[in-house]
Amino acid sequence: MIVVLKKDATIEQRGDLIEWIKSLGLDVHLSEGKFQTVLGLIGDTAGIDTELIEGLSIVEKVTRITEQFKKANRKFHDDDSVFDIGSEKIGDGNFLIIAGPCSVESEEQICDIAGSVKKAGAQMLRGGAFKPRTSPYDFQGMRGEGIELLLKAKKLTGLPIVTEIMDLSHLELFGEVDVIQVGARNMQNMELLKALGKTDKPVLLKRGLSSTVRELLMSAEYIMAGGNERIILCERGIRTFETATRNTLDIAAVPVLKELSHLPVIIDPSHACGIARYVRPLTLAAAAAGADGIIVEVHNNPERALCDGPQSLKPEQFADLVKSVKKVREAIL
Ligand code: PEP
Ligand code: MN
Repeated sequence: MIVVLKKDATIEQRGDLIEWIKSLGLDVHLSEGKFQTVLGLIGDTAGIDTELIEGLSIVEKVTRITEQFKKANRKFHDDDSVFDIGSEKIGDGNFLIIAGPCSVESEEQICDIAGSVKKAGAQMLRGGAFKPRTSPYDFQGMRGEGIELLLKAKKLTGLPIVTEIMDLSHLELFGEVDVIQVGARNMQNMELLKALGKTDKPVLLKRGLSSTVRELLMSAEYIMAGGNERIILCERGIRTFETATRNTLDIAAVPVLKELSHLPVIIDPSHACGIARYVRPLTLAAAAAGADGIIVEVHNNPERALCDGPQSLKPEQFADLVKSVKKVREAIL
């Protein structure tokens, strides 16, 4: 249930109302937007008398939220969420460009790529240390050592880093990581989501291969319910009957998610199509559709990449793409 307060409600009146609602055994989430202040009531609101609250002098209106996701819901928080990642921002018009290799392979590789993507305009470095490969015989990532190398690249370039967590037991290795990624395969690992809800790190949450938009939002809700509200939603392509591309980019997920939720939404064109030459058009489509950022795989030697070489851009292709993304952004503003 959400309670929209009148503009002239004082902080004292608001405080009294919050106290009273809490005394009924509910939690209150306060959201002060540009145009209105909203109280989100969390818990079992079935017994709450809507008319009683609506009758209070400081209350504009009361609405029951029928969707199961509350904290991620735009009705709860009218303005777009915006938060800092290092010295960068994401959300509410701030577009974040994330780039880097699928996997960290060596110090030279990650530092070289980090330097090139930074020069091209990337604001965050990606790189997998723990890799969820389909085959157990494929490269599984450099694990803890991979995170150490990402930190070296961060030190060298100043770029914040994002890397994927696959298991709760690895959480302590992520102490200096700026953003923790939950990959598509772990989108519904509820215990992992709950644990990340207790951390103070932004989470990049990827949509599961066969998950609906609402399931993605429910997974975000798991993290938010624990108190961590800095979540970036990522559409990375879903499984369909189509086999021409690795997955099918659901571009409509951008406006749909942005209508349903206040959280920033980014696109991963690389995993969506699996083929480097399609990454450019999908990225430009993402920018045109109003995404808040992109996460693109870039490798200095895609032919030799230990993972996802066929979908990785070369640094010069990425640099060219960033220029075009900026033009698309200017065109739609
Ligand atoms: C990745 O970003 O490296 C990755 C494995 O992506 P996804 O979880 O979307 O498959
Ligand atoms: Mn990859």
